[in-house]
Amino acid sequence: MTSPTIQALLSELGVQLADYQGEAIHSISPIDGKPLASLRADSASEVQARITKAHAAYLQWRSIPAPRRGELVRLFGEELRTHKAALGQLVTMEAGKILQEGLGEVQEMIDICDFAVGLSRQLYGLTIASERPGHRMMEQWHPVGVVGVISAFNFPVAVWAWNAALAFVCGDSVVWKPSEKTPLTAIATHALFMKAVARFGSDAPDGLAEIIIGGRDSGAQMVEDKRIALVSATGSTRMGKQVAEVCARRLTRTILELGGNNAMIVAPSADLEMAVRAITFSAVGTAGQRCTTLRRLFVHDSIYDTLVPRLKKIYAGLPVGNPLEKTTLVGPLVDASSYDAMQSSLAVAKSEQGQVFGGDRVNVAGCEAAYYVRPALVEMPTQTTTMHHETFAPIMYIVRYSDLDQAIDWNNEVPQGLSSSIFTTDMREAERFVSATGSDCGIANVNIGPSGAEIGGAFGGEKDTGGGRESGSDAWKAYMRRTTNTFNYSHALPLAQGISFDI
Ligand code: NAD
Repeated sequence: MTSPTIQALLSELGVQLADYQGEAIHSISPIDGKPLASLRADSASEVQARITKAHAAYLQWRSIPAPRRGELVRLFGEELRTHKAALGQLVTMEAGKILQEGLGEVQEMIDICDFAVGLSRQLYGLTIASERPGHRMMEQWHPVGVVGVISAFNFPVAVWAWNAALAFVCGDSVVWKPSEKTPLTAIATHALFMKAVARFGSDAPDGLAEIIIGGRDSGAQMVEDKRIALVSATGSTRMGKQVAEVCARRLTRTILELGGNNAMIVAPSADLEMAVRAITFSAVGTAGQRCTTLRRLFVHDSIYDTLVPRLKKIYAGLPVGNPLEKTTLVGPLVDASSYDAMQSSLAVAKSEQGQVFGGDRVNVAGCEAAYYVRPALVEMPTQTTTMHHETFAPIMYIVRYSDLDQAIDWNNEVPQGLSSSIFTTDMREAERFVSATGSDCGIANVNIGPSGAEIGGAFGGEKDTGGGRESGSDAWKAYMRRTTNTFNYSHALPLAQGISFDI
């Protein structure tokens, strides 16, 4: 059964739900804990067939000129613009993020489409000076093959778009295994892409974009398949380690976008008005369920007693509730296991002398089966072991510091290395933080929070975050293979390094 609202949204987005209905995968709305739809899962042979189709599509698509490939992505961007409101609302209903963030997620898809369209005319290689007379060296970038995308529940559609928009202009086909918690948004995105394909015409081969509905097993099967030339996996570090092992065994490429444990340092010279806004958005946005969520706050001793009481006041008044309502800033946790994980981390923090403020369950009328919480602030005596773990919920630990070196050490001490930031107006501190001896994260910001990245930069992090980079800058190179070509236009055959080999 699907609710009338969901049916209306899906029909606006061009989804034929009958093609997917079944009893294996249940899309449950975090808003009220009620089912949105029940779907079938692809069998192992269906997964295989989808990869076969995607591989055949890649063999054709790689020969279509890149700017023409860009035209398909442009058309897809147009579909997203037309249907932004409906897809954004569906994201809110299935993932539970507030409507502003649901819409923001779709905007991010539009932005990466725009980026990829421009990129489709800029897949540049270099020319390189040859040491041999009458020779020329150059490099070219060719499509890599079938890209397998595995995505997490918290960014149910943007992550696919970051990968797919680049992959398509690079000449690859894409097989997508979305989170089993958010299949409907994936199906809707696929339907919008197919609308763009229909407008684009016959240059787009059947199988260019395939979607696999299923759980971990389907993801694992995809990762094992030798025809997948690049696995781009977003999710927990636990998942990433499993995927990395399989890919290492078959020596295939990966882009791993895994857990984060992001910190902010608030220095004595910080603009506290700005810092307060940045902290709150970064720590409680998406109810603390962003990979870039602010989880650790290091506050200088001299401003601690000004900043922390202000944060408590703000936290106490945060509107927690139905994410479809305009005034809500904090929506629900995704499910019961997320709530349990939050409560057990808070219990451990208490046992480590943490002072917990907030963190209790909030009752939202009509949504009794859902899990709403007041975001938690936890004042810690120092950085303890529990702070080394990512709990995917709105818990922000706060620790006093007196020495910047100490705060930077704490920033870097955890296993994860995704995002980080400093609030300071002292140029020396800012430069130090982003220098080689500063933050060890893939993202290091000054005077903005650690979350809410733009698509123009390469996105990803180090250590247990997996080391992958996607989205902007030169992340496109991961979706292509580089060939180095040497041309000899002379009448001789000199060997490199001056080697003499006369026959
Ligand atoms: P998850 O690891 O439970 O699941 C993510 C995806 O991996 C799902 O599609 C799942 O079916 C699949 N999967 C799980 N095990 C697999 C296996 N062995 N082989 C193949 N596929 C497998 O993560 P989640 O709970 O959906 O998302 C939350 C996590 O994702 C957090 O740790 C968060 O930090 C991380 N995340 C990271 C980024 C980033 O860009 N670094 C972005 C979003 C989320």
